[in-house]
Amino acid sequence: MQTEPLTQRPQMRAAAFHGEDRITVETRPLPEPAAGEALVKILRTALCGSDFKLWHNGAEHVAGHEIFGRVEQPGHELDGQRCAVYIPVHCGHCAACRAGDTQMCLEVSSLIGWNRDGGYCEYVAVPDNCLLPVPEDIPDDLGPLLLDTIGTSAHAVREAQRFVPKDGDPEVLVTGAGPVGLGVVLALKALGYEKVFVSDPNPGRLAIAVSFGAAAHPVGSRDKRFAMIVECSGAHVARNLAIELVLPKGVIVLVGENAAPWTITEDKVFRRKDFAMLRTFYFPKADLAANIELLRANKDRYARLVDERFGLDALPERFAHFAEGKSIKPVLAFEETR
Ligand SMILES: [Zn+2]
Ligand SMILES: [Zn+2]
Repeated sequence: MQTEPLTQRPQMRAAAFHGEDRITVETRPLPEPAAGEALVKILRTALCGSDFKLWHNGAEHVAGHEIFGRVEQPGHELDGQRCAVYIPVHCGHCAACRAGDTQMCLEVSSLIGWNRDGGYCEYVAVPDNCLLPVPEDIPDDLGPLLLDTIGTSAHAVREAQRFVPKDGDPEVLVTGAGPVGLGVVLALKALGYEKVFVSDPNPGRLAIAVSFGAAAHPVGSRDKRFAMIVECSGAHVARNLAIELVLPKGVIVLVGENAAPWTITEDKVFRRKDFAMLRTFYFPKADLAANIELLRANKDRYARLVDERFGLDALPERFAHFAEGKSIKPVLAFEETR
């Protein structure tokens, strides 16, 4: 019997999430970009709490969705350009895409790092319209922040300001001071909201929020009500408290994630008040330019969120450390080894 000759496809290293909190680093063939896609050599991938479910349950694809890298596709118009990777694959021509709501494409619902291979590896194939060019003055370490930390947070605040504008100096509560909550604090400040309160049980995270100009607010406290509440913890108890504490004609913005079913009791607290409850997801691509300005204007503050950097070999151990809440926005860096 004749054996097939070994194919000589170039190899890369990639993390595999097996479930039960187990990650291994393996060798695999380099991705082969399809038509309309480009190969990106990854420089940084930021770790994200939303990957915990893949860590627990296992991932079919390479995980990692806060990706920043350099296009390595000879002949491609962006060859050599550093780009952030926009994760919602989108058609570009449906009604939502035409309206600029590229994160809510009506035709495609695939997300890079979830439904196709993402960034805990050396190379990723990216659809051309998901390449977001980033100017040279933005350091590699801060590149991934343009996605979840700035993009998601600033989009939530921009949507919320349609319901509660900054005029009139409204009091705003942010529940949860993880990367997105801290990003919301910076976005609120940048968009002119002065009275920002933050609650989080983790004193270290709360201290960062305070250093960003927010006032600490006790977790679970009922002694104050707010015109805007941006819920970033995903905890049902925080969501229900927000329903109670939001002022009439105020807005609750749900940014936090929680896979467990959420029950709302339709009691008089819920029923006898006009208020808006807003869910937001990710951000429209067209926000990029404004978000780059946000990053430039607050570079030192955003840089404080990137509190660890390590190579792929360290990912299994550092991911566990991250899951214990011991770092805010660690980044995987590819030019480094452990
Ligand atoms: Zn994320
Ligand atoms: Zn579309």
